Amino acid sequence: MHNEYIKTVKFGGSSLADANQFRKVANIVLADKTRRYVIPSAPGRRFDGDEKVTDMLYACHALAVKGEKIDPIFNKICERYNSIIEGLGLAISLDEEFDTIYKTISGGASDSYAASRGEYLNGIILAAYLGFDFVDAAKCIFFTDNKQLDSEKTNVALAAELALHEYAVIPGFYGSMSDGSVITFSRGGSDITGSVVARAVEAELYENWTDVSGFLMADPRIVKNPSTIDVITYHELRELAYMGAGVLHEDAIFPVRLSGIPINIRNTNRPEDPGTMIVPKAENRKTKNVITGIAGRKGFSVITLEKDMMNSEIGFGRRLLSVLEDHSVSFEHLPSGIDTMSAVVSTHQLEGCRSEVMHEICVACNPDTIYIEDGLALIAVVGRGMVQSPGTAARLFSAVASAGINIRMIDQGSSEFNIILSVEENDFETALKAIYNEFVKE
Ligand code: ASP
Repeated sequence: MHNEYIKTVKFGGSSLADANQFRKVANIVLADKTRRYVIPSAPGRRFDGDEKVTDMLYACHALAVKGEKIDPIFNKICERYNSIIEGLGLAISLDEEFDTIYKTISGGASDSYAASRGEYLNGIILAAYLGFDFVDAAKCIFFTDNKQLDSEKTNVALAAELALHEYAVIPGFYGSMSDGSVITFSRGGSDITGSVVARAVEAELYENWTDVSGFLMADPRIVKNPSTIDVITYHELRELAYMGAGVLHEDAIFPVRLSGIPINIRNTNRPEDPGTMIVPKAENRKTKNVITGIAGRKGFSVITLEKDMMNSEIGFGRRLLSVLEDHSVSFEHLPSGIDTMSAVVSTHQLEGCRSEVMHEICVACNPDTIYIEDGLALIAVVGRGMVQSPGTAARLFSAVASAGINIRMIDQGSSEFNIILSVEENDFETALKAIYNEFVKE
């Protein structure tokens, strides 16, 4: 059950980089009284070449570890916050907090503690500015001893705590371990806090405010002015993981997906744009284009094995995969023929173990031939509109062929909403453009 009167809203670092950005954020939050739980990041870059507060805090920690004074950097951090407080005309002072943080970092606190203070301080300012309660994430977001989010304990504690606050700011990025010490998620982790909070309060929507108006259908460095994706399912988004571009932390999907809460990616600097909706299901949402998005990456290698009668040899695939597993190499795809099998892996994972891997596969599988090729790019073409839409693959392949590009491998998921192609790295950009132009009509 979702509560239609609750939205959880997360603002990224660029949305809270200075007083002017804080004003935009307050306008957005206060324009809708269902925006009740707000998760801030630490102040991000104000302009190209500017420093993020989180990076400065990590730098303070690094100085402290070397036994050096943290003052030069720490003072700049204090100035950043003070200029926000002054710019907003707030009658609060963080001097005591600065003092404690200074002493704790200088006294050898962990890098997690240091980094988390960026969100912590920003949360105090934002709560004061909005007139919301401040709820310290260390009180209700918990990690296990092996430093993973303790989802169920967190869910119970957060739900109980937030039931006491009609409107609250909960700083992103961190929580605590069972001994009370502060620990952070990986970089960009405020997205996860937002998702965890949305789940705990059974929000009807998780709005994630950033500095772009949603996901683009393709990488803008390759395709000029690509369209924005209006609606995408969680599944499609996973298939587009190669998009990588860092709009949303990968782990932010799971808590809300569990409870079917949609995420809306929005732009703080263009609040009038609808952004991208990430939804559990989109069966009755018409798609303008057959495909939802295209993403790809270079840097893959393929290990190919050939062996007569491979198809009837029991355990062949398992032996191949167990060698990869022994070397902690994950595989992306396993295209196979009747007497051939290939494993596509990211090239950098083979660094330092390439010859052992090849040797051990030979011993384990005894193939007639085995070889490895580098320099491949993968392109994922994803779209729920492709399901049961005859001719999509033909259009895709002829678009790539017309651009004069040879397709090295093809992999279509049986759920039919993704086709993965591999091409030579040199052909990557041209192939991606050709596919985009074939499928996306303005
Ligand atoms: N401030 C943290 C970072 O820069 C976390 C976040 O912004 O989500 O990674």
